[in-house]
Amino acid sequence: MVMDAMNLKNFIFNKAALRRITRIYIPCFVAIWLLLTGAAFMTEKSMSPLQLPQDFTGRLPIVYSDNYNIKFFGFEKLHPFDSVKYGEILDNLLAHQALKRNQLIEAAPPDDALMHLAHSDAYLQSLQSPWVLARIAELPFLRFFPARLARNVLLVPMMYQMGGSLLAAQAAMKTGWAVNLGGGFHHASYANGSGFCALADISLIVKYLRQEKQAQKFMIIDLDAHQGNGHETDFKGDDDVYIIDAYNKEIFPHDTAAKDGIDLKIELESFTSDTEYLDRLQKALDKAFVEFKPDLIIYNAGTDLLKGDPLGALDITPEGVIKRDEMVFGYALDRKVPIVMLLSGGYQRSTVQVISDSILNLKKKFKLF
Ligand SMILES: [Zn+2]
Repeated sequence: MVMDAMNLKNFIFNKAALRRITRIYIPCFVAIWLLLTGAAFMTEKSMSPLQLPQDFTGRLPIVYSDNYNIKFFGFEKLHPFDSVKYGEILDNLLAHQALKRNQLIEAAPPDDALMHLAHSDAYLQSLQSPWVLARIAELPFLRFFPARLARNVLLVPMMYQMGGSLLAAQAAMKTGWAVNLGGGFHHASYANGSGFCALADISLIVKYLRQEKQAQKFMIIDLDAHQGNGHETDFKGDDDVYIIDAYNKEIFPHDTAAKDGIDLKIELESFTSDTEYLDRLQKALDKAFVEFKPDLIIYNAGTDLLKGDPLGALDITPEGVIKRDEMVFGYALDRKVPIVMLLSGGYQRSTVQVISDSILNLKKKFKLF
């Protein structure tokens, strides 16, 4: 043991090792720290918070901001997930000349009061920590980022998307339908975040519209491949929030306690295909609209149920997704219940085409715009 300790001492204090530490390790550490700190300042945005109410005259009820996209000096292109899908969907819609950029409703981040309506103070404080953001985003390297950089790269885009969901809900209440080209963070609740969802935009819609007495009864149709345990936790036992959730029962989050918050469950096996999926969805929607009459439908239209998605593990084709969206919009519009669509999960490169095709199909089928 004594020899071991001596050897260790010799190793640390021999001249070669000291040279390595002072000439390589310390300068490298300082350079990385300076780079990350510089990156934090370069990614800083001046954020003017969401102003409510807004006049949507002359605008299409489609909400977007360039700040939705999660970018990090081009490195995001190396990641298999498409973290800039929001802008790419808009580019597709613009390329089809379906709309003009200046017709969109511009999203902005919620102010402090809105953030506190959706979340506990303790949880909001915890989001200042890059360790917490790294856990929520399932990106371990993020914990070594300066807090400001982690916030700018991850939290700020989510704040814009959260504000966008609220704006879209308000637009839907006026025009009968709306789409936020982002949002749908269905794993986030009042006091917790996980599964790439830091902010509870769905809960914020419910709480804000109730506070402003614009709506009281909500139907959440959650068709992302994962169980929407965030809003289920927030509204468990609330008779005026009716939740339909279709999810792969074999994958994350396996939140048994939150399942009590679901009014109509469609539990799927891995690799469920179009026919079974659409059949079960139709039966569920028939039943739901007999049982409940909402003031607003919040449609969480995740696309991680697409065939080949490594997380969703379902087997739904692009045509199946387009039919699904058409079915849900059909139920809402036939009954004249306003519907707001949020994009939620689904980060395969192929989702961009499917989502933009589906929005174009809704436009055509229902003559939306
Ligand atoms: Zn998902």
